[in-house]
Amino acid sequence: MEALPDLQKLRDKVAIVTGASRGIGKAIALSLASEGANIVVNYASSSTAAEQVVAEIAAGGGSAIALQADVSKADQVEALINAVMEKWNRIDVLVNNAGITRDTLLLRMKPEEWQAVIDLNLTGVFLCTRAVSKIMLKQRSGRIISITSVAGQMGNPGQANYSAAKAGVIGFTKTVAKEFAPRGITANAVAPGFIATDMTDNLSNTEEILKFIPLGRYGQPEEVAGMVRFLASDPAAAYITGQVFNVDGGMVMA
Ligand code: NAP
Repeated sequence: MEALPDLQKLRDKVAIVTGASRGIGKAIALSLASEGANIVVNYASSSTAAEQVVAEIAAGGGSAIALQADVSKADQVEALINAVMEKWNRIDVLVNNAGITRDTLLLRMKPEEWQAVIDLNLTGVFLCTRAVSKIMLKQRSGRIISITSVAGQMGNPGQANYSAAKAGVIGFTKTVAKEFAPRGITANAVAPGFIATDMTDNLSNTEEILKFIPLGRYGQPEEVAGMVRFLASDPAAAYITGQVFNVDGGMVMA
């Protein structure tokens, strides 16, 4: 009998997911693992939660390691990438997911609130992308997927820092897509709307927010992960680069 085709689209690939201990990053890690990828579960401080994600992947027959690194810091990003190369000697997918909010109206926004959000949500994306790109350029293949936000497209009161960082991620993604296209590396961004995670847990104006979501509900982390998994898959998404995909219940319709 002929062998059944291997249906796992990312078998033997190596994927780094930044901020994968919780929320959207965790869902992305589980989703890529279910396609056979070896997963790097990066986190900042939630080591127990990150180890639980690794255990969940292992229980499903997949392979993963948890690696602590503050991805807003160049030296920690370098150590992270070195550790991945030591373990698997290749990097096929980078998901720039780690992000924070420090919401407050512009007149009250302190420079440190501005800087903290820019440092992780924008500079972190630059540092991780630059570090993996050296490896992907040698491999002549790679997928870079960055999580932006509808806030970077529409703006959002109280999120000048976050909106600026997320809009920056979109411009950055388009440039990376153009610079690396000749070497078989694609770069795309995914723009979630309101997704049910710790980040949106303490929003008080839920009723107001729902009015702006045509589908009338928050999204689930798995719904963002589905788009990321598609963009990571080969050959399904091989001809897509420099794009922004909204997963937002219809909030932004271009
Ligand atoms: P979340 O539940 O708050 O999780 C944030 C993740 O980022 C955690 O794993 C956290 O690790 C990690 N992290 C924080 N600081 C880090 C650092 N310096 N270095 C490395 N990792 C760090 O957030 P989320 O809602 O899943 O959001 C994930 C991404 O989606 C973010 O980029 C966010 O801006 C974007 N997004 C979210 C929504 C939404 O509605 N939730 C909408 C649009 C876009 P620890 O557990 O160790 O702290």
